[in-house]
Amino acid sequence: MNDTLSFHTRKMTITIDYSQCIPARENNASPSCGFACVKACRLYGRNILRIEGNRPVLAVSDQEEIKRLDNECISCEYNCGRFGPGCITIDIPLG
Ligand code: SF4
Ligand code: SF4
Repeated sequence: MNDTLSFHTRKMTITIDYSQCIPARENNASPSCGFACVKACRLYGRNILRIEGNRPVLAVSDQEEIKRLDNECISCEYNCGRFGPGCITIDIPLG
C-alpha cells in the first residue's frame, strides 16, 4: 500500500512517506525526530503541517490555499533529513 501524503505548492510537489516516518511507523507521540518537519514549518514555513494521530498531516485542507500560503522554504525536507530518516521528498520540475 502506498502510505504517503502528497501536496502541491506553486512550483513543487512535497511527499511524506509514512512507511518511513518515525512516529507514524512506531505509533509514537514522542519520536526521536521530534516532529522536526512540523517544527520547521512553524519556524521557517507557513504552518502548513501539524501533528495528528502521531503523524504529520496538512494543517490547511484547501489545495489552492496551500499554493497561496506555502513559501517553498523546503525546511520540512531538510529537517527530516537532519533529525529523521529523510522521508520527505520534494520534486521541483525544471523549466
Ligand atoms: S521529521 Fe520526518 S520522520 Fe519525523 S515526523 Fe516529520 S516526516 Fe516523520
Ligand atoms: S516547504 Fe516550508 S512552508 Fe512548505 S510545507 Fe515545507 S516547511 Fe512548510
